[in-house]
Amino acid sequence: MVERDDDRWRARAACRSVDPEMFFPTAESGAAYDRQVARARRVCRRCPVQAACRDWAIDDLPHGVAGGLTENERRRARRATTRRARRAELRPAVAPAPVLRTDRAPVISAGRAALAAGVDRDDIARVLGVTRRTVDRWAAAGAVVAGGGR
Ligand code: SF4
Repeated sequence: MVERDDDRWRARAACRSVDPEMFFPTAESGAAYDRQVARARRVCRRCPVQAACRDWAIDDLPHGVAGGLTENERRRARRATTRRARRAELRPAVAPAPVLRTDRAPVISAGRAALAAGVDRDDIARVLGVTRRTVDRWAAAGAVVAGGGR
């Protein structure tokens, strides 16, 4: 997003005209926290650059409300993005799917790389189209004998 890259969006931020402290709830939970977050969100909702702010905040802002999201919401968004990126990294190694039926080597190779990178085993199984047991076997074998698999 161009606006985000050049940071010009900040000049149009709705929060420039309000107390910045409003975006950092003092309560940690409960009704007081909800009220403080809602107050900040009301400003974000009418902000013309909310999308650019949200993208930036998800990547770079650990605390407070920004882009209409709390820090926990941004953390979840960040994790989801990371999971999607990991899946995207795995996909090219296993496409096209029909090849997998006859040649398991790319699948095994992708699985080995994913295990080495610390990717969750259930995620590996889902993305590569193998059972969790297969992934466990790869891990136990220190991964992999060519032509092995399911
Ligand atoms: S979305 Fe909210 S925090 Fe972000 S610039 Fe707009 S008002 Fe400020």
